[in-house]
Amino acid sequence: MAKDDKGKKDSKVAKKAAGARAADLYTINGPKVERKNKSCPKCGLGMFMAQHKDRIVCGKCHYCEFLQK
Ligand SMILES: [Zn+2]
Repeated sequence: MAKDDKGKKDSKVAKKAAGARAADLYTINGPKVERKNKSCPKCGLGMFMAQHKDRIVCGKCHYCEFLQK
């Protein structure tokens, strides 16, 4: 095995995509904890909407809101 091959493998492993974690969905602002993303009006406060370029979508019920420019 060449050293170059091992280097390429490591870079692929590091690029593995991770799902949204609780720490990514909230910001701590002093004594307050604020939600970064809007929650779904159909599913309730626990279900966050995914932010896309032109719309926000609920991953559970697929409720979609288009953002107006
Ligand atoms: Zn929903």
